[in-house]
Amino acid sequence: AAPEKRDFIRQIVREDLAQGRHQAIRTRFPPEPNGYLHIGHAKAICLDFGVAAEFGGVCNLRLDDTNPAKEDPEFVTAIQDDVRWLGFEWANLRHASDYFEVLYLAAEKLVKQGDAFVCDLSAEEVREYRGTLTEPGRNSPYRDRSPEQNLDLLRRMRAGEFPDGARTLRAKIDMASGNINLRDPALYRIKHVEHQNTGNAWPIYPMYDFAHSLSDAVEGITHSLCTLEFEDHRPLYDWCVDKVDLVGHPELLQPLLDKGLPREAAKPRQIEFSRLNINFTVMSKRKLTQLVTEGLVEGWDDPRMYTLQGLRRRGYTPASLRLLVDRVGISKQNSVIDFSVLEGCLRDDLDASAPRRMAVIDPLKLVLTNLPEDHTESLTFSNHPKDEAQGTRQVPFSRELWIEREDFAEVPPKGWKRLVPGGEVRLRGAGIIKCDEVIKDADGQIIELRGTLDPESRPGMEGANRKIKGTIHWVDAKAGVAAEIRLFDRLFSVAKPDDESQGKTYRDYLNPDSKRVVAGFVEPAAAQAAPETAFQFERTGYFVADRRDHTPGKPVFNRSVTLRDTWAA
Ligand code: ATP
Ligand code: MG
Ligand code: MG
Repeated sequence: AAPEKRDFIRQIVREDLAQGRHQAIRTRFPPEPNGYLHIGHAKAICLDFGVAAEFGGVCNLRLDDTNPAKEDPEFVTAIQDDVRWLGFEWANLRHASDYFEVLYLAAEKLVKQGDAFVCDLSAEEVREYRGTLTEPGRNSPYRDRSPEQNLDLLRRMRAGEFPDGARTLRAKIDMASGNINLRDPALYRIKHVEHQNTGNAWPIYPMYDFAHSLSDAVEGITHSLCTLEFEDHRPLYDWCVDKVDLVGHPELLQPLLDKGLPREAAKPRQIEFSRLNINFTVMSKRKLTQLVTEGLVEGWDDPRMYTLQGLRRRGYTPASLRLLVDRVGISKQNSVIDFSVLEGCLRDDLDASAPRRMAVIDPLKLVLTNLPEDHTESLTFSNHPKDEAQGTRQVPFSRELWIEREDFAEVPPKGWKRLVPGGEVRLRGAGIIKCDEVIKDADGQIIELRGTLDPESRPGMEGANRKIKGTIHWVDAKAGVAAEIRLFDRLFSVAKPDDESQGKTYRDYLNPDSKRVVAGFVEPAAAQAAPETAFQFERTGYFVADRRDHTPGKPVFNRSVTLRDTWAA
């Protein structure tokens, strides 16, 4: 079993359960469906779903769809896909918009209690009245409206009587608070916009803090885990939860019954943790969206993208991303993780799990002249050197082979261990060969090597034990399958693509070599793989059969990560 995780959030949960503060744990993952999830979200997903699972609780997937203008059902589908792909399942799929009626009743309650008022200041005036970090704000001239007056105005807002921006519903808290979030923040705004779930039912929409805190309370969330930038919002979160008091006022939950939703309100607790930051990446939905819409990448699932869809297509496994989140850990300390940590997690996962295959990405023909023209044999290779359970496969071998162009040197540099004219090398799993002849075209380009196989050096024979400096991989030319091989690298060539201090943007830091497509050959057992199958191509790297384009007849492989870190400074 995996070691028990003991970060501060899990310690709080453990303590809360031990003290009997909750019977069961309930968390939620609340993405806004305005883009695809990215690798940062993987941290939140693993934490929200992981904590629930480890403590026998449940986690909801809640689409935070309170902002109607930016949302798209395409994202909703992708979010669900991504969460499941990472290995998690939600107890309930909910939408913040499921609670619009409840939220509205809560707003009326605040108005009746004198805790909220309708304000006629314009957005600009609200900003002027708000004050600054060092200056207290000023009360809105509308702050002293009576509850009756406010209720009438709120109901007319809800009835659609006023144009966008004409009025807001504001919490009545403290314009002198040192926390600007508490200076009478807006709870509702007027927006005559159609919503993907509620259509034209609502001309007013709840603001984030109000909707989020109360959605948590409605769902009976016990621990509401979010990133550190919400720390300053926590007093407002608590204010909303306490003033509305859904637990003490089940009548506010009546609209849930009409929708067939359960009434399970609780008082939630918000706990903040530091976001995942990784150098060499951009990780905001806005920038990831721009990369797609500006055509800087080939789509949301371009294998160079740091969306979960992109990472998946690149060959990142769910296990590698969960490993990353575990290695990075959960704390309140902001930090930037080195990209090599991400790659290291993938290497570690695939080293243990991915079957080995042979592929040649820059092919050079090698003809073994001492084998008959029609010679073919089938060699047995183990699929994984450290995992016998992965079994074996048959690898065809005949007179004509492909080897890597870079495994041959006419004039070898110092310390060269691979093939040279007149030299010997071991062909992985096949025997020792000698290069007898180098064939060139009219321009002096090497187009073929001719050599001989030492018949006494076949695997298992006494003669195979001769000391030979190098071993190279190969693909049988007759049975090998031509493959499109996409060599991906980091999308950005600098550690801080977000840095705009030089008057540049992340667009200026795109790595021009982030994608290179070559024509290579793979052994039949690689070609036959289903899309999304991962392999280690021996000596070359970890590759995955492309999720969209790979077929056994026309194989397409993406390089997920090289065998070693080549970026180390
Ligand atoms: P972005 O700011 O990158 O566009 P977001 O925070 O607006 O993302 P949401 O859909 O609101 O995206 O996020 C859903 C959840 O994922 C939130 O709880 C948020 O705190 C969390 N989250 C977003 N980015 C990260 C990150 N880099 N690390 C950890 N958690 C994150
Ligand atoms: Mg957000
Ligand atoms: Mg954000």
